[in-house]
Amino acid sequence: MNCIFCQIVSKEQSADFVHEGDNVIAFKDIRPSAPVHILVVPKKHIDSIKNLEEGDRDLVSEIIFTAKKIAKDQKFDEGYKLVFNVGRKGGQVVDHVHLHLLGGF
Ligand code: 5GP
Ligand code: ZN
Repeated sequence: MNCIFCQIVSKEQSADFVHEGDNVIAFKDIRPSAPVHILVVPKKHIDSIKNLEEGDRDLVSEIIFTAKKIAKDQKFDEGYKLVFNVGRKGGQVVDHVHLHLLGGF
């Protein structure tokens, strides 16, 4: 599949990883828009939050808990932003679900 984040998951494309678990990975955004800008990404390809299914509830929870742990481990959990862009009108460019973790302000 021609999906850049699937290619990062499978290591066909390189990325600066900060976390790798069974279901979720996290890596630094290539064009950071905050002092710390990390993308938390499910290994499973889901194109958009819009197309989440009931069976994805635990996975979405794991994405958020992973972001929380990274913020704590990297000591910027005093304050940060978590953002899902959904659809082109919502600013989504990469069609593989990802949570933006923005911090270090
Ligand atoms: P979106 O606008 O879809 O919510 O966010 C996509 C994000 O992925 C953007 O912030 C963009 O900088 C980042 N991005 C796009 N391609 C790559 C890539 O190949 N590597 C990394 N690390 N980030 C990427
Ligand atoms: Zn994908």
